[in-house]
Amino acid sequence: MKSHHPKTQALLDSEPFQKNNQASLLFVESFKENALFHYEHHLFTKKLWDKFGFHPDQLNHEDDLKKVPGTMVHLYKEHEFCSVPREELALVLTSSGTGGQKSQQFLSQESLDNVKKLALSIHRSLGMASEKKYNYLCFTYDPAIANDLGTAFTDELLTNFTGKNEVYYAIQWHEESKNFELNEDGVLETLKRFAASDIPTRILGFPALLFEIIKKYDLNINLGKESWLQTGGGWKGKADQEIPKNEFRHFIQERLGIPLEHQRDLFGMVEHGIPYVDCTKGNLHIPNFARVFVRNPHNLEIVPKGERGLLHFLCSYNFSYPAPSLLTTDYGRLGSCDCGLPGETLILEGRAGVSKHKGCALKALEVIRS
Ligand SMILES: [Zn+2]
Repeated sequence: MKSHHPKTQALLDSEPFQKNNQASLLFVESFKENALFHYEHHLFTKKLWDKFGFHPDQLNHEDDLKKVPGTMVHLYKEHEFCSVPREELALVLTSSGTGGQKSQQFLSQESLDNVKKLALSIHRSLGMASEKKYNYLCFTYDPAIANDLGTAFTDELLTNFTGKNEVYYAIQWHEESKNFELNEDGVLETLKRFAASDIPTRILGFPALLFEIIKKYDLNINLGKESWLQTGGGWKGKADQEIPKNEFRHFIQERLGIPLEHQRDLFGMVEHGIPYVDCTKGNLHIPNFARVFVRNPHNLEIVPKGERGLLHFLCSYNFSYPAPSLLTTDYGRLGSCDCGLPGETLILEGRAGVSKHKGCALKALEVIRS
């Protein structure tokens, strides 16, 4: 089917990591196309923009993006915001919170195709996609049972960016306890089997889980130089055990034999959907498919580059979920990296009001502990 949104297709067909006038124009035009769609199809969005006295037609230059009103992330937890009829949705992704509040994302087929396309493009540009076959150990929910959960969706998506041999999901559903549980024996057996195999390994999942299991069983395994670790979800709920990223990377190299440049972290939010992924030097790069503004929490003004503030995310790929401009409760700042990729990096600095915003990662950890 031909896309109704040619500007967005042009953006998604372009190189994800570039910073020049043409790249800027590609994003601005795509964002304008997307914002106009939500303005016309979602009453709350229209009212918000009207209140700010700003119309999507006024988006013509990079600087205009800074004037776009942001919608607070908690509104998406309290309301089911959707810009298309429910029957047009191909997938509803959720990140279950412990307080009954759910993060959700509604994806039409077009939006789902778009997010898969941009995720592949980002991973390919970072040298992470491959035709080669890998064995996968995923520290996450089995997507056969939990395919609407953000983390399960992400991991299943990631395994499709390479050839795959075996995929082992470590968090399994137990009929007796009616709960998800981490299969520790299964993980140990799988790691040993993968280490002995000629096929290299990719480990996906929460860093805290992997760290804990290596410590608990004092693991020393060599998965080989061709193996990878792709983490995501952060250390939420285990912040007391968190070790600095650089230390963690060296620990993994020492204990599992995975080279530093093959260890990549990913930051993503269910409501936003853009993956921010580490380069070979371990810095999260911002692709041209998004913009990240850092705002003063008191007056929401943009802070000077490098300073800490609330993260405000812009994206344009989703034509069903009206979150093109998402104001979050996460703190962070913008940085730079000398790996050669153009553009800025995202440095995460924690979350405001953690207890109110327990995400999928935390839920997973609680499930495992209980
Ligand atoms: Zn870099």
